[in-house]
Amino acid sequence: MKIATKIIALITFFLLILAVNGIISITLLKGVGRELHTVVNKDVVLMQSATMITKQQQQKAIIFERLRRITEELAYQQVNAARKEHLLFHIKLARKDFDALAKEGALNIVNAKVMVSQSMSSAATPKARQDLEEVTSVLKEIEKAHIHYDAMANEIFKNVDAAQYEISPEDINQIQTDERKLATELQKLLDKIQVFTQISVTNAGKYETTTQYLLWTIFISSFLASLALAFSIIRSFNEPLRHLLKATHQIGSGNLSVKLDESSKDELGILSCEFNRMSGQLADARDKLEQQSKVLQFNLDLTAQQKKDLEKINQELDRFVHTVSHDIRSPLMGIAWYADFLKTHHYANLDKKGQDSINGVCRGVDRSNALINDLLALTRISRIRNPYQEVSTASMLEDLVATLDYKIKQNRVDLHIDSTMPTIICDPIKLKEVFLNLMTNAIKFSSGRPDVQPKVTITTLNHADHYEFIIKDNGIGIPPEHHEDIFAMFKRLDVSEKYEGTGAGLSIVKSVIDDHGGKVWVISEQGHGSEFHFTIPKKLTVSNASS
Ligand code: ADP
Repeated sequence: MKIATKIIALITFFLLILAVNGIISITLLKGVGRELHTVVNKDVVLMQSATMITKQQQQKAIIFERLRRITEELAYQQVNAARKEHLLFHIKLARKDFDALAKEGALNIVNAKVMVSQSMSSAATPKARQDLEEVTSVLKEIEKAHIHYDAMANEIFKNVDAAQYEISPEDINQIQTDERKLATELQKLLDKIQVFTQISVTNAGKYETTTQYLLWTIFISSFLASLALAFSIIRSFNEPLRHLLKATHQIGSGNLSVKLDESSKDELGILSCEFNRMSGQLADARDKLEQQSKVLQFNLDLTAQQKKDLEKINQELDRFVHTVSHDIRSPLMGIAWYADFLKTHHYANLDKKGQDSINGVCRGVDRSNALINDLLALTRISRIRNPYQEVSTASMLEDLVATLDYKIKQNRVDLHIDSTMPTIICDPIKLKEVFLNLMTNAIKFSSGRPDVQPKVTITTLNHADHYEFIIKDNGIGIPPEHHEDIFAMFKRLDVSEKYEGTGAGLSIVKSVIDDHGGKVWVISEQGHGSEFHFTIPKKLTVSNASS
């Protein structure tokens, strides 16, 4: 079951309990109301009837007493005609009142009987029925006594009408006996009614107690049931959440094999499912990573081995270059010595062809020496690593201008250096070599043309993560198809030997810039000067490393 469904079920359960409580309360209260209504309808009305009958009987007794006095006066005293007429008039009035009261009394008794018989048909208990039967018999007694009393009174009224004013003491006695009997029966009736009322009130009290008891029982049991339900729902969240937390800790500490119970049908089940999927993926990723790390370690070991091998090869190569250059240099020196000897002692004896040959041998020896020197410089530059330092390129260029002063002046070079040359971190010895090569080339390939003054400009650009240096000249330029290969070892475009050189300078430049993690390239067209660009990253740090 989903969490939302569980919460809805809990709320519905609470509402149901409230509704059941409400219905039961209303039903029970209705019972109390009904019982009270019965008291009002039955007991109070019956009480009214009994009271009325009693009152009417008392009035009748008063009327009879008045009649008795009047008849006494008429029977024993000498009354004049006017007085007699007056008394007879009062007897008539008394008779009229008596008849009316007798009728009303009879009617009230009948009504009370009908009401009691109705109540009897709906009596709830045998005891109530028995009580009502007793009331009926009391009412019958009252009716009997009432009829007897009225009959006696009627007889006396008739006698009075027939001018027999004397009422016998037996009749008076009988009347008084009937009156007492009626009073006694009426008192009984009132007592009975009081008992009814008492019973009804007791019943209502019982209903009230039962209602309270029931309501408390329902309230406490529903409260306990709600608590149990809430506890079970909270437990159903809490347990999986605790497991999830524990599993998360385990995963955090590296145990990726941990799995959660997915049997729950709610969101926690889905969460557990996702969690297991995630931990599975993590385990896979870790396995892959371990695999890759093994491969990486293997490659690193291989690279370290290769590096060692390479260093060994480089050392051997270095030794080889030194040996070879030494071996070449020795016969070269011999050739140079012989050529120099011939030039000094026999130059004048040689014809033109011989002199040219001697000069060619000297030039060849010089060029071979230059080549050997450049070759040694190149191997040295790739072998030696100087510490990286903070260097002012402005000062570096100032030194270089001093070094190249003769060439600058000899060729009347218009040299301009940017005033904002930066301070950078680099291998200063090698970077000086770079500037020297590029400046030498710029001067060399822009000089020697009669109508054009050589112009060399050195500028810089400050980028976000690197500096860019530009050495521009107005020299002979480089065709685009050679923009790449001029950086190759001993590559020269000029075959006419107008411009001296060995073709090693740009190889050295590229090797140094590569070592610094920068780039070098040229922008040029033949006959329109050249722009050599190179970059030095800003991320380099000062170091003490050396080869
Ligand atoms: P070198 O200058 O000794 O010949 P480099 O390696 O310095 O050797 O240059 C290789 C070739 O690139 C040069 O021979 C030349 O043909 C060409 N080159 C280099 N710099 C320039 C330049 N500033 N203007 C024109 N050509 C150049």
